Amino acid sequence: MSVVKHISDDIIVMYLGQMIEKCNAKSIFKDTIHPYSQALLSAIPIPNVHEKRERIVLKGELASPIDPKPCCRFAQRCPYAQEKCFQEEPVLREILPEHVVACHYAEQFVK
Ligand code: SF4
Repeated sequence: MSVVKHISDDIIVMYLGQMIEKCNAKSIFKDTIHPYSQALLSAIPIPNVHEKRERIVLKGELASPIDPKPCCRFAQRCPYAQEKCFQEEPVLREILPEHVVACHYAEQFVK
């Protein structure tokens, strides 16, 4: 990912075969919105032993990619999941300019 931001214009984050976040390469690091993207980026090693970053460790089970239910595919592992997340599939929405996210509560995760 550290290299990707220098060679890419746009980044798409996928989860179980679905696009969950898309934005320009610099924005994904600065304005990460989707809870899965946040966890994914927190796992990138930092090449500086003095710099600390909180690692987000996901718990819960992966949803079935073979027979996905009509809900958020990340709901079983999302620390912010609410009832709606288990009942409705979120659609991609533009949350920031040219930055789309598939999460019912994406606005709450904007820094
Ligand atoms: S829709 Fe709900 S479960 Fe899915 S990422 Fe957003 S908060 Fe988490």
